[in-house]
Amino acid sequence: MATINSVLGEIDSKDLGFTLMHEHVMVAASGLSTHYPDLLGPNREQRAIECLKTAKAHGIDTMLDATTFDLGRDPALLKNVAEASGMNLINVTGWWLDVPRFMHGVGANQMADEFIKDLTEGFRGTNIKAGMLKCAADFEGVTAPLETMARAVARAHLQTGVPIMVHSYPTGHVARRQIAIFKEEGVDLGKVKIDHSNDTTDTEYLQWILDQGCFLGLDRYPGRLVSPHMRTVTLKRLMDMGYGERLCPSHDCICLHVHNEQPDGSIAEQHDFHKSNPDQYLFMHRHVIPELQQLGATDRDIEMLFVDNPRRLFEA
Ligand SMILES: [Zn+2]
Repeated sequence: MATINSVLGEIDSKDLGFTLMHEHVMVAASGLSTHYPDLLGPNREQRAIECLKTAKAHGIDTMLDATTFDLGRDPALLKNVAEASGMNLINVTGWWLDVPRFMHGVGANQMADEFIKDLTEGFRGTNIKAGMLKCAADFEGVTAPLETMARAVARAHLQTGVPIMVHSYPTGHVARRQIAIFKEEGVDLGKVKIDHSNDTTDTEYLQWILDQGCFLGLDRYPGRLVSPHMRTVTLKRLMDMGYGERLCPSHDCICLHVHNEQPDGSIAEQHDFHKSNPDQYLFMHRHVIPELQQLGATDRDIEMLFVDNPRRLFEA
C-alpha cells in the first residue's frame, strides 16, 4: 500500500482501479493557458470534462497526467476537471524537453528542491501536489540541460520515494544513457518507468531495459511510425517473454491542444492530435484490448496491465 497525491488529495494505491499511466488533459507551453487561452479553442474546461466523463463511463478510473511546467501545467484546470468528471488525475512534476534560458544557470540540487516542494507542499499558490516525477530526452540524446533535470528528478526521488516516468527515444536507445545517470545517482530502477517504448518493435533493446529492473511505458496509441497492430504484437510478445508484470500500456492522448490556423485563415475546430485519434482515451478499449484478447490475453492479463502494474509501480 502506498499513498499517492492526486490533484484532489491523497488516494491509496489499492484504490487506483483501471489506470492509464501516460496521458494528458492539456498540452501547451508554460503560461499559455493563462496568457493566450483562446489558442486552445473555446470551452476548453467543458470539453475536457466531457472527454474525461466518457472515459470514466467506460471504466477508466485513474490517469497519470504527464504535463509538466514546460508542457503548460494548469493545476486549477486539472482540479476542476477531476472534480467534475470523477476521474482520478495524478499530475507529474519534473521536466519535459523545453530548454528556456534560465536552465543554463540552474543546478540539479536547486531544481530538486523545487520538485520536492511540488511533491510535498504543492504547486505554488495551490494545495495541489504532484504525485509522480518525470524527466525526458529525445532524438538528440541527454543534452546537458536535460541531464541537469534528470539528476534533479533522481535526487527528488531519493528524498521522497516517488516513482519516475521517463520520456525516452527508443530508436536512438536513449534509455541506456538515462538509466546510467539514474544508476550514478543511486535510484532504485524498480521505481522507474521508461516511456514511449512502443515506438520500437526492437524487443532485444526493450528486454535490456526490463532486465535493468525498470517498468516499460508502452504508451503511444495509435502513435506514428509503428502501426497500432505491431505495438500490440510487441506488447503481447513481451508478456509471453515473462515481463507482463512491468508493462504499462497507455495512449499519450491529449484532450486540449492548440487549434491551428488553416490555409484559408479559419481556425481548425479540432486540434491535430484529436484528428489523428478520434477515439481519444477509448482507443485502448475499442482497439487494443480486443486485439490483445484475440492474441490470447486473458481477462486476468488485462487486469494485470491496467490495475496491478500501476499499483505495483507506486508500491515498489
Ligand atoms: Zn506525453
